[in-house]
Amino acid sequence: MTSQSDRTFRFSLGNNVYLVSKPFGDCLLIHVRLYENVNVPTKKGLALTLSRWKTLTQVFDDVDSHLQRGDTTIFDRHLGGNYYVSVKDDRIDLRKWYMADDGDLRATRKGINLSCEQWHELKENARELNRLLCEELDRVVECFHQNQETFYDCAECCPNGALA
Ligand SMILES: [Zn+2]
Repeated sequence: MTSQSDRTFRFSLGNNVYLVSKPFGDCLLIHVRLYENVNVPTKKGLALTLSRWKTLTQVFDDVDSHLQRGDTTIFDRHLGGNYYVSVKDDRIDLRKWYMADDGDLRATRKGINLSCEQWHELKENARELNRLLCEELDRVVECFHQNQETFYDCAECCPNGALA
């Protein structure tokens, strides 16, 4: 199931959803994805770059405290690009969004909606995955912008431009 050399690791989150690290070209992607018949990945899920994955692990506590408060307002955290983690009705949604012509962010099909149990498993297994990938994660360079101009030009921080 796991192999050290190609950095492919897989953890079950329950109900056929898996947390998987897998190389893609020169980079490593972290998938949260529904599988079919244990070994067949479906289109239902998303793939995060290491930088977005790292950001997600950094907002685990924010998501948890929102869940614990029983706060019913919609909550989200930006992971980079058009990827967000959001909470609605006790479900945790990991998803790519896009900016529609009217300027609203709309959900794409690239994503997955997790139960609280699956979210819990994600957090537990993230610890082990991050330990296995600590060298790769250490190499992730986090965005730092000296001024607003470079922030607005950054596809990672501001994917839809200055008006977004
Ligand atoms: Zn940036």
